[in-house]
Amino acid sequence: MLRRAGPSLCHFLLERNSGAGRSSCSREAKMSRPVQARRLEGIDKNIWVEFVKLAATYSKVNLGQGFPDFPAPDFLTEALSRALGGGNHMLHQYTRAFGHPPLVKVLAQFFEKLLGRDLDPMTNVMVTVGAYQALFCCFQALVDEGDEVIIIEPFFDCYEPMVKMAGGTPVFVPLRPNPPKDGKLMSSADWQLDAAELASKFSERTKAIVLNSPNNPLGKVFSRGELGLIAELCVKHDVLCISDEVYEWLVYDGKQHIRIASLEGMWERTVIIGSAGKTFSATGWKVGWVVGPDRLLKHLRTVHQNSVYHCATIAQEAVAQGFQRELMLYGKPESYFVQLPKELQQKRDWLVQSLDGVGMKPIIPEGTYFLVADISQFKSDVPDVPDSDEPYDYRFTKWMVKNKGLAAIPLSAFYSEAHKNNYTNFIRFCFAKEEATLKAANDILQKWKQEKTSS
Ligand code: PMP
Repeated sequence: MLRRAGPSLCHFLLERNSGAGRSSCSREAKMSRPVQARRLEGIDKNIWVEFVKLAATYSKVNLGQGFPDFPAPDFLTEALSRALGGGNHMLHQYTRAFGHPPLVKVLAQFFEKLLGRDLDPMTNVMVTVGAYQALFCCFQALVDEGDEVIIIEPFFDCYEPMVKMAGGTPVFVPLRPNPPKDGKLMSSADWQLDAAELASKFSERTKAIVLNSPNNPLGKVFSRGELGLIAELCVKHDVLCISDEVYEWLVYDGKQHIRIASLEGMWERTVIIGSAGKTFSATGWKVGWVVGPDRLLKHLRTVHQNSVYHCATIAQEAVAQGFQRELMLYGKPESYFVQLPKELQQKRDWLVQSLDGVGMKPIIPEGTYFLVADISQFKSDVPDVPDSDEPYDYRFTKWMVKNKGLAAIPLSAFYSEAHKNNYTNFIRFCFAKEEATLKAANDILQKWKQEKTSS
């Protein structure tokens, strides 16, 4: 039975607090206390919100945000259809919280091969909502108030706010460009860590280093020597390594992706992060994983079980089938992990040619599906905005999408506040695109070049 109550509690409290009894229970009632948790201070800005909107509004060709515009492989989408419409209705229900058993099993088998060590699918592998959640679990589980976390610049932009949200302090160390002397195009391999500078960042306060190889945005694939240097410092200072390897299969020109966890002394202190989004060209599925020792993963499981708890069963089932196929075809020419980098290398080369042809000097990436280009020769194209403190690469990227219809991302967005002003002459393109998209980008660039030469 519905009883007609007296004045509501809300009404009562407002009247009492107003003293005069004038207040009504209105929606405009304000809270006097700050609503925002302190841990969010200073991390509310996000490049993607602004640039994704700009691209959606103005771009004819979007080479900004990193996702393929070509379809995911048939074997993967067919696996999803089978999971969806097949007889197993339990695939529509919860599965194991730390990873659907078929997926953790096949990931363990796969990584046993890659790392040359036995893995327990239940304790050495955990499935996450994309690599993003894997990163979030790592920082929440392993970083404490006052801990320092070393981040190599340029870096995937969420590392910094995630470290800060965990109460840690990011410490940045840049890859320094060494342009080749022979006038050749620069390669991502020409961006290197200064060994002494890197060593100077390690201290008693250092809890972890974030390594991202192949690196977004540069496409750098760290060499064995560079990884050896990082590993040596980690072991010497008893530091953990959060190894973001989401682009592990996207490596070109016969280069090899080396897993830092396979170096001496590193397995026990490394968490490897992967993504089905990048691995199978299905970024919208948001299936990721971590592989590592139980002594680290057990803490990640605590964060996972108290945050998302569980990832979509059906997507995990389809990704598991994708990996089963790849396990069978491992190293063979039909393997997607062999075919995809081949196709992407060609796309990379097309974009390199297009950009080089118009004087937007590309830095040839050894891996990933990103390419950074030097825009220093285009300063006269972009109108000066007096008194603007917006960096040149931001102004250029906004101007380019509005006036030429081509979307990219400014490189300085991948740097800390302290260092971003040193890297404002570059922008990042994504080349995981259909041939037609890359051709359309080339047309825009060629037309632009003609306009420049005729003016
Ligand atoms: N790490 C890096 C380096 C990335 O580039 C991305 C996606 N752009 C992620 C992690 C997140 O991957 P996911 O989409 O699987 O969450």
